[in-house]
Amino acid sequence: MVNSVNMVIAISNHKGGVGKTTSTLNIGAALQRMGKKVLLIDLDPQANLTQSLGLMDHAPTVYEALRGEAKLEPVEVLPGLDVVTSTLDLSGAEVELSSEPGREYILKELLEPLHSRYSYVLIDSPPSLGLLTINAFAAAQEVYIPLQAHYLALQGMSKLQEIVERVGKRLNKGLRIGGVFVTQYDQRKVLNRNVAETIREHFPAEAFKTAIRDNVALAEAPTQGLDIFRYAPKSTGAEDYQALAKEITKRTT
Ligand code: ATP
Ligand code: MG
Repeated sequence: MVNSVNMVIAISNHKGGVGKTTSTLNIGAALQRMGKKVLLIDLDPQANLTQSLGLMDHAPTVYEALRGEAKLEPVEVLPGLDVVTSTLDLSGAEVELSSEPGREYILKELLEPLHSRYSYVLIDSPPSLGLLTINAFAAAQEVYIPLQAHYLALQGMSKLQEIVERVGKRLNKGLRIGGVFVTQYDQRKVLNRNVAETIREHFPAEAFKTAIRDNVALAEAPTQGLDIFRYAPKSTGAEDYQALAKEITKRTT
């Protein structure tokens, strides 16, 4: 079946701990609940997305696929929500693939036979701007950036913007930053409110209205191998990721 929407989105920020993995999982789960067919790809050697779903050691992983030893093999999490898992071994991939011709396009090629089956493919990227992230950017149409509403949240953004621009010129025409959203937001803190405002000024077209509030259930859910909708459907985390997913579907159709 060919889906009408057919988006590949890389969720990226080279700053660590900003909510990339939490957002990949829960945006994906929210889209699945809206009836979309979703594929998540764990492209991070930390394998946090894989661990969050309780799927460690589920071979073949994205690592074997990038090495040319296997195809991408999605595992079904729920009907309509699949994931390609990662492994700690993926940390060797940057070096191992560095002399491979066309090394930036390996993930894109691996995705080709698969991606028309899905409305949304979401790629969880590592907190770096190395070859794995470049592979995500070469395979995607858009990059979404989660940002914490903390002091210095925008530090390093020009570097990320520059790389997206360069990949968009040289490797993957038209790649753009398609969305920016605030995570771990505490509306009681003046600093958080001010930074969220600054982020919206910096990314007037890209910023989503929805901010993901600080919610401990979002940090607890992965310990049970669950997304927020199965772990705590009434939490603010579930509410916020549902609202964000709604904005995403509006933007992408
Ligand atoms: P890395 O750069 O290491 O891959 P990341 O950007 O993927 O990190 P996450 O792992 O999603 O970030 O989040 C970092 C930590 O913050 C995790 O422990 C996660 O459970 C927690 N967290 C993420 N979002 C929220 C939130 N809205 N409220 C509370 N805790 C959150
Ligand atoms: Mg992560």
